[in-house]
Amino acid sequence: MGLLMLGTPLEYLESRKHNEQVRDDGIEQLLYVFKAASKRDGDPLYWGDEVEYMMVEFDDFSKNATLDVRHDEVLTALNTDDYALCVAHNVHFHPEYGRFMLEATPNAPFKGYPGKYVEFNMRQRRVVAGMAYDRLAKGESGRFGILTLATFPRMGCPDSINVANPWDHKNTASCSLFLPDEVINRHIRFPTLTKNIRTRRGEKVCIHVPMYRDEKTPNADDTVYRRDWFPREDAESELAAKPGYIYMDSMGFGMGCSCLQTTFQAPNLDKARYLYDSLANFAPVLMVVSAASPIFKGWLADQDVRWSVISDAVDDRTPRERGVEPLLPKCNKGGFGAIAPELHNRVQRIPKSRYSTVDLFLGGNKFFKRSYNDTEVPVNEKVLSRLQENHIAPLDYDLARHFAHLYIRDPLVIFQENIQQDNQNSTNHFENIQSTNWQTLRLKPPTQESVSENKDQPGWRVEFRPLEIQLTDFENAAYSLFTFLLADFFLTFTEEINAYMPMSQIWVNMERAHKRDSLINTKFFWKDSFESDGCKTSELTIDDIFHSESNGIFPKFINPILIHRGFIHKSWEELKTSTDHLRLYYYLKLISDRASGKLPTTAKFLRDFVLNHPSYERDSRVNKTINYDILQMCNHISNLDDSRGELARFLGNEIAMYVVNSRL
Ligand code: ADP
Ligand code: MG
Ligand code: MG
Ligand code: MG
Ligand code: MG
Ligand code: MG
Repeated sequence: MGLLMLGTPLEYLESRKHNEQVRDDGIEQLLYVFKAASKRDGDPLYWGDEVEYMMVEFDDFSKNATLDVRHDEVLTALNTDDYALCVAHNVHFHPEYGRFMLEATPNAPFKGYPGKYVEFNMRQRRVVAGMAYDRLAKGESGRFGILTLATFPRMGCPDSINVANPWDHKNTASCSLFLPDEVINRHIRFPTLTKNIRTRRGEKVCIHVPMYRDEKTPNADDTVYRRDWFPREDAESELAAKPGYIYMDSMGFGMGCSCLQTTFQAPNLDKARYLYDSLANFAPVLMVVSAASPIFKGWLADQDVRWSVISDAVDDRTPRERGVEPLLPKCNKGGFGAIAPELHNRVQRIPKSRYSTVDLFLGGNKFFKRSYNDTEVPVNEKVLSRLQENHIAPLDYDLARHFAHLYIRDPLVIFQENIQQDNQNSTNHFENIQSTNWQTLRLKPPTQESVSENKDQPGWRVEFRPLEIQLTDFENAAYSLFTFLLADFFLTFTEEINAYMPMSQIWVNMERAHKRDSLINTKFFWKDSFESDGCKTSELTIDDIFHSESNGIFPKFINPILIHRGFIHKSWEELKTSTDHLRLYYYLKLISDRASGKLPTTAKFLRDFVLNHPSYERDSRVNKTINYDILQMCNHISNLDDSRGELARFLGNEIAMYVVNSRL
């Protein structure tokens, strides 16, 4: 997310008349980007991560922990009064959907292998943000913390945000039964986004997460209640909720989750395409190993990750596009939502939310076969032909198809002041559609300024987006560096490694990745060989996917790139005796031990904490006391405070001791 534009955002019924113009202009803008930058080559492997944080208030008297929505000026301070300090520490803070959220990146990207600097930089972010936070919350009675939690356990339960009477007024942006609008970033873009998704869909969004079943678990989510503030939206919930599932009804439940993303610059467009395609199946399996989301809206879930929750939380497809009946046929005629009547005859079926697994390989290399793109992927035909047939910069079919798929979506927020643009110099309309297609990977094109000679401008980048945020900087650095090593591997061995497999199997993997303890109990499609021409796969456990000598990630990807870099002779485990790379050894050990099940994922650790809590009543409910205790524990772990043995239980003795004794 770049800087937020000020201006007048249009509500969907106003903005929809501009949809086609935004798409048309967006595509022209993209063509000018291609014209400028498609031949660009030799860009270095700059890269960087994004970490998302939640500000949390601890009330030690009532023993409650809440999302802090009262100090969002922390972000303002970090971009004004504290800006010089941020630059000096090479950190940069960005807005996020939640008013309680911060996002932080390095200010200048890393170049190549930065070693422990990644973690050091992450540490600086906590220190700098913590200073601003302390200053702004000074003198208040609560205790505050900045946590890297994937989901806030009781988000959407009563008393889960720190404002006194959030229900003495209506929440007109989300109309949620559970989330007050105070959770939403104050910047007008975010409430508008929330409203426009709901308007276009013709219904509130609807999120179902399977509920963990215990002895006394009720048959259904009994927090769904009758209200008569919004005749349509309030009536939808009872119809939408279903037995056995936790029910959630607004964007904040998804966009209020925190994730870890990494972005890598490739030397040129062809390599960016190859990198994107090669990482496609790493997304589900790495997400499994990063799983950190076992609790939603005060219920234990039978699921370990946040992905499907965000996917549903921003799903603006109408019932007709989803191929289902509307919840209230009288209010959502024909299931067309708010699609303009003159376009009803052009509505197509859309199999997935705009937040989902990648849809198409990008191709453009010798290993790619079009038959690997074997799933149902609708495209915008007009965009598909314009991208291929034009006098600005014609794209090949496979690349054109990728963008033509992204362009089946409508813009979600259009700013009045911004409708007319100079397509040769702006990428605003292009980004409008591009940046609201939230997939497991993103190909990030540069701008029209990024001509070959202009090395100050970014080049072609690929973003890896499936990872859940981890509690400590140590873990977040470990996962970030792991994705870096994979990117480095693919950019090094481009001519030798064929990671293609059928897209349909990657979709299946992503679904399986959601299951509780899928790390232990589920098998995933994985390639038999990465050296041969074909795309044959077998179903393997996560342990085998990471460790198998013949086709596992450590032997086939991590070891070769470390050998290539001169860090080891044969196996990453040699790093244990290295003086320069001992920390890397522990990063890799963490991931290896989690992948083999020797160490719990964050999701398993937190679920077990609830199951063993004295006030847990075997009914899958995570009450206030448990929530408070979870957050206390997470706060200790994040601060590497092992005085209660929590860190050692979480990371194992050896890694915990190393981390505590070698703080950065
Ligand atoms: P977004 O939210 O659109 O994904 P952000 O600006 O939040 O983008 O994060 C982008 C990440 O990419 C940051 O970690 C940043 O350091 C990194 N980055 C910046 N410039 C480059 C570049 N030229 N190549 C690769 N990564 C870059
Ligand atoms: Mg960002
Ligand atoms: Mg973003
Ligand atoms: Mg973000
Ligand atoms: Mg987010
Ligand atoms: Mg990002």
